[in-house]
Amino acid sequence: HQRTLTLKRFPVRKNETLQAWDAADEYLINHCQEMELDPERPILIMNDSFGALGCWFTNQAPVTSVTDSFIAKQACQENLERNQLPPISIIDCLAKLPQNPQLVLLKQPKNNRLLSWQLQQLCHLLPADCMVIAAGKVKEIHTSTLKLFEKFLGETKTSLAVKKARLIFCKANPSLAKPLPRPTQWDVPEHKLTITNHANVFSSDSLDIGGRLLLDFIPQDKKYQDIIDLGCGNGVIGIKAAQLNPQAKVTCVDESFMAAASCRENANINLENPEQLTVVNANCLDNFEPDSADLVLCNPPFHQQNTVTDHIAWQMFCDAQRTLRKGGEMIVIGNRQLGYHEKLKRVFSNVKLIGQNNKFVVLQSTK
Ligand code: SAM
Repeated sequence: HQRTLTLKRFPVRKNETLQAWDAADEYLINHCQEMELDPERPILIMNDSFGALGCWFTNQAPVTSVTDSFIAKQACQENLERNQLPPISIIDCLAKLPQNPQLVLLKQPKNNRLLSWQLQQLCHLLPADCMVIAAGKVKEIHTSTLKLFEKFLGETKTSLAVKKARLIFCKANPSLAKPLPRPTQWDVPEHKLTITNHANVFSSDSLDIGGRLLLDFIPQDKKYQDIIDLGCGNGVIGIKAAQLNPQAKVTCVDESFMAAASCRENANINLENPEQLTVVNANCLDNFEPDSADLVLCNPPFHQQNTVTDHIAWQMFCDAQRTLRKGGEMIVIGNRQLGYHEKLKRVFSNVKLIGQNNKFVVLQSTK
């Protein structure tokens, strides 16, 4: 099965050192080449990182790729085009799955809550002959991971490790099918907020300690007309900003579809005027108008898929600088060790420490 694909991560960066596929993708592809695939029945791909699996399988059967990531979706679409391959159906994690798939290829997500949710979804859907083949890094497939497959889907076996990746084989046992779990919900009584979280949302069990500190430093001033919550997650920061600044239009941005859905629901529950807040799926502030915001609030992520990285925080700061009006402010919360202080200083030429505790700092830069 010699075939060459050209695959890039998204966003495409100059001098990229990380590749757009991993040993688990290779293992899955090699394994499936030994299988006889039905060209008519759907293949379901879940959590494809940058479209390697979508690109490989698109010519072999109708492919539906399920992802929670706007970035993964963009990457897959661009890689299909780059290789002159036909488009595939790419749907978000909360969408209805196609009926009667012949095969499910599942990349192990970082978040076990998302994995459990997806396995429960599959248990309802899969016909008896449909194999689920999951793949991940050996060091991330724990006994507890395999127990999730056994608990929510059916009898589970694993392969030998190849290049530090392993496969997991499982078929649905319909007697294990249960109603899908509801999103988690918790209160932040001191801010009178009730927050709902779909499975893959950051900090879905309770308010993150960084977010909690940032809530105390959201400014209130009639001068703010356009506020952005960048990397909004469940929207807790943007919603509080909207409550404090009822005159402002608040835009919450996240690359996770489940985050965006949670944020919308939370705005509807917590805001007197839910239309004050708009939710957008985007990579940072790609395609936002320059000079169009007065305040950007941000609790940046420090990993992409399974890779620890600071390039997203860096892009967020540069995008915020471009999107702010002159005199506009960016307020960032971060772990002390992450060095956001130096980055903000480089991007804005100024940075002020406005709050801190033993772990986190709250920093403000002005354009
Ligand atoms: N603001 C929320 C809070 O304080 O609880 C969530 C903060 S969490 C540390 C960072 C968020 O950034 C996650 O919800 C993640 O999905 C989102 N994110 C990661 N990469 C992104 C990107 N490239 N563009 C937009 N959002 C991104």
